[in-house]
Amino acid sequence: AHKLREPECIFCKIVDGVLPCHKVYEDEHTLAFMDIFPLSPGHALVIPKDHHPDLFAMTDALLGPVMTTTRKVAIAIAKAFGPDGVNLFQANGPAAGQTVFHFHMHILPRRFGDGVLA
Ligand code: 5GP
Ligand code: ZN
Repeated sequence: AHKLREPECIFCKIVDGVLPCHKVYEDEHTLAFMDIFPLSPGHALVIPKDHHPDLFAMTDALLGPVMTTTRKVAIAIAKAFGPDGVNLFQANGPAAGQTVFHFHMHILPRRFGDGVLA
C-alpha cells in the first residue's frame, strides 16, 4: 500500500526513523512513543503511520487501529506507572492547542490532585 508522508512533519520523520523516539509499540498501521515533554510521568502518544493532519482528515479505516493501539498502550502504561487514572485526549487546530499536525492520541496518566488537566 502507498505510504502517506509529509516531508516537513516531525511525526512522519519519527515513523520513517529519520528522527529518534522512545518507541513503546508498533504495528502495521500505528506507532506509539513517549511524549518528549511529558505533562505527567508516562505521557505517551499514538499515531497512524500515514500522515493525516487531524481528526477531520482521518480515515475510518485507521481510527480502529489507532484506538486499539491506544487501549493496548494505555494498559501497559498504567501497569508500568501505576497512576490513579488515565486521560485520553486529542487536539484539532491551534485554538484547541494542537501543535503537531499529524493526528495523535495522547495517553496521559493522572494522579489525584495533580492539576495537569481539568
Ligand atoms: P499537541 O499539542 O499537538 O496535541 O501534541 C503534540 C505533542 O507532541 C506535545 O505533547 C509535544 O510534547 C509532543 N512532541 C513534539 N515534538 C515531539 C518530538 O519530536 N518527539 C516526541 N516524542 N514528542 C514530541
Ligand atoms: Zn506526518
